[in-house]
Amino acid sequence: MSDASFLDWPFFDQSHRDFAAALEEWANTALPKVCPKDEAHGPAMDQTAKRLVRELGKAGFLAASIPAAYGGRAKDFDVRAICLGREILGRHAGLADFAFAMQGLGSAAITLFGTEAQKQRYLPKVGRGEAIAAFAISEVDAGSDVGNMSTQAVLDGDHYVINGAKTWISNAGLADFYTVFARIGDGTGAKNLAAFVVDADTPGLSVSERIDVIAPHPLGSLKFEKMRVPAANMLGQPGEGFKVAMSVLDVFRTTVGAAALGFARRALDEALARIFKRKVFGSPLADYQLTQAKIAEMAVAIDASALLIYRSAWTKDAKGGRVTREASMAKQFATDQAQVVIDQAVQLWGGLGVVSGVMVEQLYREIRALRIYEGTSEVQKLVIAAKVFEDFKHGG
Ligand SMILES: Cc1cc2nc3c(=O)[nH]c(=O)nc-3n(C[C@H](O)[C@H](O)[C@H](O)COP(=O)(O)OP(=O)(O)OC[C@H]3O[C@@H](n4cnc5c(N)ncnc54)[C@H](O)[C@@H]3O)c2cc1C
Repeated sequence: MSDASFLDWPFFDQSHRDFAAALEEWANTALPKVCPKDEAHGPAMDQTAKRLVRELGKAGFLAASIPAAYGGRAKDFDVRAICLGREILGRHAGLADFAFAMQGLGSAAITLFGTEAQKQRYLPKVGRGEAIAAFAISEVDAGSDVGNMSTQAVLDGDHYVINGAKTWISNAGLADFYTVFARIGDGTGAKNLAAFVVDADTPGLSVSERIDVIAPHPLGSLKFEKMRVPAANMLGQPGEGFKVAMSVLDVFRTTVGAAALGFARRALDEALARIFKRKVFGSPLADYQLTQAKIAEMAVAIDASALLIYRSAWTKDAKGGRVTREASMAKQFATDQAQVVIDQAVQLWGGLGVVSGVMVEQLYREIRALRIYEGTSEVQKLVIAAKVFEDFKHGG
């Protein structure tokens, strides 16, 4: 059982401890039936992901990402609960974390910028697990460089006509609706972008490809061909698209760190289970100081990650406003450190650590994408440095 002493930290209130206890109980009892190990790969993966969304919704856990007025927990997001959710589910099954997280990421622009009608239409269903959400910003030539996007939306009466393509879209083909970002004027860069909520059955929208990656993660590309979207589906104002995207990532980057933390905790658990059992040169691996040094480094990396994550989540929940610096620090540090922790766990497992299907081998594949999506580690460092420079200039 992973160390849960962090729940006593002052970042949490009793409702978070109750949420964590209930989700842990659900993950131990219901999750193995909803997400059996052998179904989390191949063609059955999409069905498992859909079932996970439904069951997490029914059990009430998706409420963490939904405003209280629409069936959720907090005024808009309960970032600490989302982080706890991702951490706990990540520790049990990567696909469960994926299903949980995407409901928030895919609907967050509606929560933050939607009209009352848009909120009423989508958010209650997302929270109940009855509608699957997705977030579509990346393109072949616009990943880190979001401002380079070329998907174009042109106003025609009371509709926008959208042409273009998106790639790396989580839940492509599974989603009931997408938050789609497009350029609404001439030029390049982050200006003149807009966000739209687009129903999956909108004529002109197609899933052009499915992309298989190294760990269970429904992913694909979208194509928009003369797709007509009511102007009323815009989220925020014309030209505010970049602001919408960054406001969403400001909430969810911290939670990516939390998922990584869950993977890292599981890796430490697996390492501990192994080193007391495995005997080399006549003694358990745990007796050797080189092993103890590894375990110490893993434990420090985990606690330091948790501190950054829950500092960021608490700041967002308690103070509101943007937490760009805190969120980028939490994501960059926790995802990079989880990679190191998991690598050490694989090393401690020896040859068994690279056998397909062994938990540390799964974690080794699961963690990799977290250092890439929602802004790579390098992009987070650029963001952090920009904030440090800003503070220095204001102080100096
Ligand atoms: C599993 C997965 C799920 C995803 N889900 C979604 C989703 O749901 N919705 C969505 O819209 N997108 C999604 N993405 C896309 C993801 O956000 C992008 O892959 C990511 O932003 C990086 O963009 P890129 O792949 O184009 O890499 P690039 O931008 O080409 O980056 C390549 C390398 O260059 C580095 N680099 C970039 N800029 C600089 C710089 N200025 N200085 C130095 N190095 C730099 C990067 O850090 C990286 O190491 C997902 C990606 C993955 C892998």
